[in-house]
Amino acid sequence: MNLAATPEPSTPPRRARVVVVGAGPAGLTVANILRAASVDCVVLETESREFIEQRPRAGFIEEWAVRALEQRGLAERLLARAQTHGECEFRWAGERHRFAYGELSGHRHFVYPQPLLVTDLVRSYADEAGGDIRFGVRDVALHDIDTDHPSVSYTDRETGERTRIDCDAVAGCDGARGVTRTYLGAERATVARHDYGIGWLALLAEAPPSSDCVVFGIHPRGFAAHMARSPQVTRYYLECPPGDDPENWPHERVWSELHARLTVAGTPPLTEGRLIEKRVLDMHNYVVEPMSHGHLYLAGDAAHLAAPIAAKGMNLALHDAFLLGDALVAYCAEGNASELSGYSDACLPPVWQYQEFSQWLSELLHGASSGVPFEAGTAAARLRRILGSPAAAAAFAEIYIGKGAGV
Ligand code: FAD
Repeated sequence: MNLAATPEPSTPPRRARVVVVGAGPAGLTVANILRAASVDCVVLETESREFIEQRPRAGFIEEWAVRALEQRGLAERLLARAQTHGECEFRWAGERHRFAYGELSGHRHFVYPQPLLVTDLVRSYADEAGGDIRFGVRDVALHDIDTDHPSVSYTDRETGERTRIDCDAVAGCDGARGVTRTYLGAERATVARHDYGIGWLALLAEAPPSSDCVVFGIHPRGFAAHMARSPQVTRYYLECPPGDDPENWPHERVWSELHARLTVAGTPPLTEGRLIEKRVLDMHNYVVEPMSHGHLYLAGDAAHLAAPIAAKGMNLALHDAFLLGDALVAYCAEGNASELSGYSDACLPPVWQYQEFSQWLSELLHGASSGVPFEAGTAAARLRRILGSPAAAAAFAEIYIGKGAGV
C-alpha cells in the first residue's frame, strides 16, 4: 500500500530483516534487542544524532522498566547515575502531604532524563554493537506492508538519493507525529482519543530541584508541578489554557505563578533559574487498536499517547519495545510467529490501565481549578481518600509505579 506518490529509488535496494522507523526510546530499544540477537536491522530517523541526544522530555522511569533494561544489558549508565524516588508530595489547601508510594508498593522511580537514555541506547546499538542507523532521513514511506514483500523507502538528506529497504517486518516507532500510524488507515484500526481541554506550560529551569521529590500543587489558580531532572535542572509544569502562547509567560510571570501555586506553610522557597524550555502542551491521550497490521507493528507514542500527567508515556513505550523486540527475534531467528501475532493483544491491557490512571489523576489534579464546584468537590474527596485510607493509598501507589498494571 502506498499512501502517497514517492520518488523511485535511485540506488539498488538493500535487504534487512527488520526496518525500525524512529530512534526514540521505543525504536532504539527494539533495535538493541534485535542487534543483540544478531537479527539484521536498519533504524531510520529524521533528526540528527545530536538533536535526539538533547531533546528534553521524560525523566521518570518505573522500576520494572529499569530492571527489564538491566536484564538486556542496557541500564549500566542509568544505574550508575540515576537517583531514585519513592515519595511524592501533594500541596493542597495550604498544607503539604507526603505520600510514600515506594514503601507502599516496594518499587521506586528512577530519575533519568530521556536524552541520557537515548544517548545510552544509541551508543550501545551503533557504537558498541555496530548497528546500522541512518540519521536525517526524509520522506520515509512504507510499501506493501500487507503482502509478503514489505519494504520501506527514504531519501538521504545529504545525497538526495532515494533508497528502498526490502524487509520482513517494520517496527513503527516514530512517535506521535510520525508516518507509520497512517498506514493502518481508518478501515484497519480505530483511534480512541481523549482531550482534557487543559493546557500545561512545560518548563525546564536551570535551577536545582527545590524538593527531594515530585510535588503536585493543587490550587484554584491552576495546577502546578515540580519534578527533579538532575542536580542542576528541574522540570516545572503550570496549567494554562489549551493553545496558550508561551510568549504570554515571561520569566517573572512563570516564577510568580509557580510560587503562588506551589508554596504552602513550611515549604522552602523555590530556587529560581533561567528557563531553558517553555512550551505549551495541549493535553490529550489516544490509543490505536489494533497496534499492528500486516507486517507493520507500532510501538510507543506511534500507537498510544499519554499526556505527561502521570509520567507514563516512555514507560509504556519501553514495555511495547520489550515485547516487540522479543517477538521479532522469535520470528526472525526461530521462525516462530506466535508472539508477533499476539503482540497487539499483549500490549493493550497495560496501555488502557495507564490511560485510565492518567484520566483519573487528571481529574484529581485539575478539579480545584476547574471552576466547576462539583468537580472540585469530587477531586477533593478523591484526594482525602488516598491520603486517609491505607487501602486506597496502596492502590494508588501500585498503579503510580506500574505494579499490577500488567507491565
Ligand atoms: P519518540 O520519543 O517521540 O521517538 C520517535 C522518534 O521518531 C523521534 O526521534 C522522531 O524524531 C522520529 N521520527 C518522527 N517521524 C519520523 C519519520 N517519519 N521517520 C523516521 N523517524 C521519525 N513519559 C514518561 O514515561 N515519564 C515522564 O516523566 C514523561 N515526561 C514527559 C514530559 C514531556 C514534556 C513530554 C512531552 C513527554 C513526557 N513523557 C514522559 C512521554 C515520553 O517522552 C514519550 O512517551 C516517549 O518519548 C515515547 O517514546 P517513543 O520512542 O515512542 O517516541
